[in-house]
Amino acid sequence: MDDCLFCKIVSGDIPAEVVHTTERTVAFRDLNPQAPTHVLVVPRDHYANAAALAAGDPEASAELVRTAAAVAAAEGYADDYRLVFNTGAGAGQTVFHTHLHLLAGRDLGWPPG
Ligand code: 5GP
Ligand code: ZN
Repeated sequence: MDDCLFCKIVSGDIPAEVVHTTERTVAFRDLNPQAPTHVLVVPRDHYANAAALAAGDPEASAELVRTAAAVAAAEGYADDYRLVFNTGAGAGQTVFHTHLHLLAGRDLGWPPG
């Protein structure tokens, strides 16, 4: 999609520190990390949010979670990590291309705030 930041990262038009790729997903480090490991996992195809992805491409939706788990394990956090989908501006979504936040490596308090 034109003018989508994460589509441009997927295509390589905008650089990012990519840590893992699969057939349907790309995982790269967040520019403004909120934890020692803060990786965004995105589908290669453009969907505005997690529910739209789940409806349109359920296998890619599952692959996001599998990819996040693989990255967590690769970084030494196989058992303790948080996955977050912010959905809607009111919930803090700023990029409207589905992305799963993987956070790990610090005390992840609950509730998340
Ligand atoms: P959201 O707020 O939509 O849930 O998450 C968007 C995330 O994208 C934020 O955590 C933000 O730091 C990250 N981000 C914004 N622009 C860029 C960028 O150009 N490159 C990377 N790697 N991350 C970005
Ligand atoms: Zn996009």
